[in-house]
Amino acid sequence: MDDTIKKMLQTLPKIDEILLILEKENIFDKAPRDFVVQTCRAIVEKMREDILTAGKNSDHSVFIPTVEKAADKIKKKIEGLHTYSLRRVVNATGIILHTNLGRAPLCEEALEKIVEISRGYSNLEFDLSEGKRGLRYDHVQEILCALTSAEDAMVVNNNAAAVLLVLNTLSEGKETIVSRGELIEIGGEFRIPEVMEKSGSILREVGTTNRTHLPDYERAIGENTGLILKVHTSNFRIAGFTEDVELSSLVELGENTGIPVMNDLGSGCFVELGTYGFEKEPTVQDALKAGVDVVTFSGDKLLGGPQAGIILGRKDILEKVKKNPLNRALRIDKLTLAALEATMKQYLNMGKAISSIKGLGSLTEPVTAVEKRARKLSSKLKGLSFKEFTFSFKKGYSMAGGGSLPTQEIPTVLVAIDSLHLSASSLGAKLRCLKIPIIARISDEEVLFDLRTIDETEFDLIGKGLKSIDIEVNRDDASGERKN
Ligand SMILES: *Cc1c(COP(=O)(O)O)cnc(C)c1O
Repeated sequence: MDDTIKKMLQTLPKIDEILLILEKENIFDKAPRDFVVQTCRAIVEKMREDILTAGKNSDHSVFIPTVEKAADKIKKKIEGLHTYSLRRVVNATGIILHTNLGRAPLCEEALEKIVEISRGYSNLEFDLSEGKRGLRYDHVQEILCALTSAEDAMVVNNNAAAVLLVLNTLSEGKETIVSRGELIEIGGEFRIPEVMEKSGSILREVGTTNRTHLPDYERAIGENTGLILKVHTSNFRIAGFTEDVELSSLVELGENTGIPVMNDLGSGCFVELGTYGFEKEPTVQDALKAGVDVVTFSGDKLLGGPQAGIILGRKDILEKVKKNPLNRALRIDKLTLAALEATMKQYLNMGKAISSIKGLGSLTEPVTAVEKRARKLSSKLKGLSFKEFTFSFKKGYSMAGGGSLPTQEIPTVLVAIDSLHLSASSLGAKLRCLKIPIIARISDEEVLFDLRTIDETEFDLIGKGLKSIDIEVNRDDASGERKN
């Protein structure tokens, strides 16, 4: 080891000295002592390694910080622990049920109920009339049945859990028949074949990717058949030479053979979207009317509520599902239940549901109203006299997202932001780093704000966010006209 390296190692900040500084600044009120000490050690250890590596490479340019600088570094790290990781963002992407951005925003009543129910105690599992233990899902059973004419209802953590639970209850050790065209993968590692395997049911694929016929199902039925499953192909469509078997035909087959039929509907829409100019999407009511024995769907897709898995269907089947011990591991929590009950109440009046459930509102809002909002935002932004940005309008399409209506083009109006110095991707990155991040759409080297998912109450935030970027860029700017 050469002498310079030795000397450098001797000048490394001492852990005790760093801790002394931190102690004076009351850092130990802000994080556990062990964590602070460990962080100190790790930082000093890293410096030691850097010096040794530099020594090996005869590189004498490594920089050893002072004790104060080292303490500062640790302070920043501790302060980082106090900032929230899970934060609200502005969804300017135009993807209404963006799974990565939390899917459906909740209606006001759901928010109020979450606060009311979780602030104190509740009758979560307490039957008030009998004064004894009750079931948590009973709180939504009646309303779900009233809205859909289902015989019985229960709810679990999410739709993936609902599918797993029903498969396990009805078809463990038995075969479940599914069309090859419906063996889907949706985002986040939910794959029908894999969920099937974990449920203990045996996948019996029938038909081909593009065409499956009723006789394919008929031929597959045997001694060990537990269930016929139809899966909504949520996030994709196959076009061209295709055929699948209507739910009603599968129901008939089920009735003739005594095998239950399940429908994983994915999104679980209650509203007839056809009346709003969309292509026909099977509603939950349609599936039940067709006579399906059990149907499952998500709470936070087109339904517009909290993350949940809803199971509706025949009473005798639901009773078995409720008794399955797996249920205990998949159960819904009280915050979700409070929000779900409030969301379902909105549907007692469809008109009210469309206006109070934000996802449905965004989906069905006429493009003329979106355009009006775009003009408002643009004139507000123009009034802020940016050095950096100019704005223009664009027509385009929003998307439902959340694996719903994948081929549906929803007309929208976007505000395009042109920046003097920043490329689209670096402006996009700066928008993501704001205190309240703005997640924009970037398309063809252009940053776009889709007004279909932006609320007027967010205009101020957007203005302030852009202003702070405007100031930052024009302060740091030494690069002339070059975009970086
Ligand atoms: C979205 C979806 C699921 C999973 O639902 P989560 O609520 O996200 O767990 C399962 N099946 C289908 C068909 C879906 O579209």
